[in-house]
Amino acid sequence: MKIHKLLFPDRCIFCGKLTDEDEYEICTKCRDKSENIIKASPDFQTTKFVDQKIAAAWYKDEVRAAVHRFKYNQKPGYARAFAREMYKQYILNRCSYDMITYVPSNRYTVFKRGYNQAKLLAVELSKYTKLEVVQTVRKVRKTKPMFDLKPEERRANVLGAYEVCCDVEKIKNKRILIVDDIFTTGSTVSEIAKTLKLAGSGEVGCATFAYKKS
Ligand SMILES: [Zn+2]
Repeated sequence: MKIHKLLFPDRCIFCGKLTDEDEYEICTKCRDKSENIIKASPDFQTTKFVDQKIAAAWYKDEVRAAVHRFKYNQKPGYARAFAREMYKQYILNRCSYDMITYVPSNRYTVFKRGYNQAKLLAVELSKYTKLEVVQTVRKVRKTKPMFDLKPEERRANVLGAYEVCCDVEKIKNKRILIVDDIFTTGSTVSEIAKTLKLAGSGEVGCATFAYKKS
């Protein structure tokens, strides 16, 4: 066993128990219990701007609780386990991209939380895919929190809210994968994909850890 493992043994992201080395951060018991939740691979409808969507788990029960801890209870380390599950779907769905990007958070949220959870997932996923992580877009105006808005309000909330913030040449004709923690209505991802495509990118896909059934 590596010294790092002895000092910082992995704990199950669902039940908190210490896990064996070959279990990584989801214990066998929780994986068996959550089989249908974790191996979600939802049959997503693609949209006008988003050409492919993948997700690793349904947003319910223990997955929902773990995502909540990841976002609000200072558990940034979950990104590694989440990204590993996302990468399984990446392979299963034969994804092929040139770079990874992520949904940006506003500065206040990052300051308060200490991290942007989508960026953490993007960085962890890039360790498996070996693709560069690029911040491609930034917010140009404030938006309301999405969780208490209706689908049509969500679309309006993010309309025109992003602009490309990297060198446009860098994304020209490139296939870009947008990473986020949860897929709900897809308004944000769709708006970012639109922004990227209008700037000349190639296909745009989206990878999330969790997927909320609408
Ligand atoms: Zn467990």
